[in-house]
Amino acid sequence: MNDIPNSIEARDRAYQLHPLVDLRKHETTGSLVIDRGEGVYVFDIEGKRYFEGLAGLWSVAVGFGEKRLAEVAKAQMEKLPYYHIFSHKTHGPSVELAEKLIQMAPVPMSKVHFTSSGSEANDLVVKLCWYRSNALGRPDKKKIIGRVKGYHGVTIAAGSITGLARNHASFDLPLDRMRHTNCPDYGSAALPGESEAAFSKRMADDLEKLILEEGPDTVAAFFGEPVMASGGVYVPPENYWQEIQRVLKKYDILLVADEVITGFGRTGNMFGCQTYGIKPDVMVISKQMASSYMPIAGILMSEDFYAPIADESSRLGVFGHGYTASGHPVATAVALENLKIIEERDLLGNCRARSPGFIAHLDELSRHERVKTWRGVGLLGALELHPTGEPGEAGAAMAAAALEEGVIARAVGDAFCLCPPLIITEAEIDEMFAAVGRALDRLG
Ligand code: PMP
Repeated sequence: MNDIPNSIEARDRAYQLHPLVDLRKHETTGSLVIDRGEGVYVFDIEGKRYFEGLAGLWSVAVGFGEKRLAEVAKAQMEKLPYYHIFSHKTHGPSVELAEKLIQMAPVPMSKVHFTSSGSEANDLVVKLCWYRSNALGRPDKKKIIGRVKGYHGVTIAAGSITGLARNHASFDLPLDRMRHTNCPDYGSAALPGESEAAFSKRMADDLEKLILEEGPDTVAAFFGEPVMASGGVYVPPENYWQEIQRVLKKYDILLVADEVITGFGRTGNMFGCQTYGIKPDVMVISKQMASSYMPIAGILMSEDFYAPIADESSRLGVFGHGYTASGHPVATAVALENLKIIEERDLLGNCRARSPGFIAHLDELSRHERVKTWRGVGLLGALELHPTGEPGEAGAAMAAAALEEGVIARAVGDAFCLCPPLIITEAEIDEMFAAVGRALDRLG
């Protein structure tokens, strides 16, 4: 026996290590216990309803409580709860999902490999870039360039590409092969009078300078989210991706599009790459692929990326990589059904139809005295607050005030981020922003 009170909250504090908190503070503050979900709402253990303004972690596209996903999971659990894809084995759901993704891809893609998380997927892409450079007889072409405020996960390589100090400090990251170029934050980094196009050109010039300093023959790949999300929602300015791609092409550097948040409809197209004219060599996907009902992520790679890797594995006699849960039958079956729902309910169409209202609300709230500016595209946005005291203080106060008003959302520094489920209705958008407006007023 122990003396831990028998509540979920108390046992959580006693036993669970939590991300993105001050762990010592958490020992006394604890967690809000979420008990169930329905549509765009979740309910805490006391039955209080909250608007899920971040769709969980930018991921629950079809909303909470979608019965079709539960039914598919149950059926697959009963038929084949687990199997793997090692050593010449496979199973139907993983094949069907891989085929579907190849068909959906915005550029010709050749192979898919599934992982359980976005971090793992990005780590794998790094490994494959290194493997591929060795295969091509370019053993020095190994450096990876990410961006300041970019987010690609927290495992050792992915965490190194992430450009956020909070994910590096005391973890001995980043790894020494990783570099970071500037964040395309036009709103605060543009020079007086600088147009978006001129700013984008300057960002590309900065990238080119970094590549030349490092030596183009040492740089393997550039990783970027089509829209930077977890770092605070930074929408690329006009021509940004065209300029970046021009530089990468010039120096034969691979482009990895991290679509973990932007994939499957968030920006109004199936992929962020379509919204911004990005032609990636590799795409990383997760979150809305299964609406996070199951842990699943994956990578899609072009034939040109795949071929040297395949040749190298033949030379070595085996491809020495694999995860127990890669292509997990329940996760892939749920993802397939989730993609069917996204298509059948035309959630891309809903995103496009709801986006102007969503953006108009952001714009309107940006006139509030507490708000400096807004950023957004599709159903992904942020209100950048005027700083008060320490960086992040205003954001944290806003997230707390929003919670009081019944909206769960995420503050990144002083950016208050919103990313509601793609099923959201016009009335629900109005309801969410009314509460966000009241939260701003609460800040006084
Ligand atoms: N890439 C991007 C763009 C992400 O937003 C995230 C998670 N927010 C990840 C990778 C990491 O995914 P995971 O948390 O599943 O490891």
